[in-house]
Amino acid sequence: MDWKMENATRMKSEKKRVLVFATHNANKAKEVQQMLGPTFEVKTLNDIGCDEDIPETANTLEGNARIKAQHVVDNYGLDCFADDTGLEVQALEGRPGVHTARYAGPQASASDNMAKLLNALTDAEDRVAQFRTVFCIVRAGKEAFVEGVCRGHIAHEKSGVDGFGYDPVFIPEGMDCTFAEMTTEAKNAVSHRGKAVRFMVNTLLES
Ligand code: IMP
Repeated sequence: MDWKMENATRMKSEKKRVLVFATHNANKAKEVQQMLGPTFEVKTLNDIGCDEDIPETANTLEGNARIKAQHVVDNYGLDCFADDTGLEVQALEGRPGVHTARYAGPQASASDNMAKLLNALTDAEDRVAQFRTVFCIVRAGKEAFVEGVCRGHIAHEKSGVDGFGYDPVFIPEGMDCTFAEMTTEAKNAVSHRGKAVRFMVNTLLES
């Protein structure tokens, strides 16, 4: 048997380590799976039969990530990781922060949220902001956190059509366009989530 076949046989016989990503978003899970490679099998909440929306009731990103990861550990007994992201605006003392998704109300759309943000910053000279993504990883009962930060500032008006959420109003440091004007690859290279995922993948592969 040549080394390639040997390697393939060994990899097949090694049991994959199942890790649940506490999200219903299959695209997010796919992104992490691609970066982790074949040693791990990433499953979503839907894959393990968890249809509920786990309530995010903590007042920090870390707290919400922990709630989601712990829910899977407690109810399904599986190793798990979970994320939470917030937009922290300096002139607003870190708001919307943990309330980023529901800044303009419980049913708010991305447009509603951006309109509220631009309104809150009308005439503001200080437009410094950062996106922060936190991952909580729970394996064999042990908890670890990693985070990714993308610094930048809030534009005076929306620009660009790609991406999601606050992308049309966020200009990352060193760039002169918004996230919504960048390709997915260019955004992932500098974004909070891209950095956090890379840190998490390193943490998982190291241990
Ligand atoms: P989540 O924790 O991934 O659900 O993100 C919380 C909220 O932050 C989302 O509802 C989005 O509005 C916003 N958000 C997260 N990541 C991004 C991003 O990369 N660009 C723009 N908005 C984002």
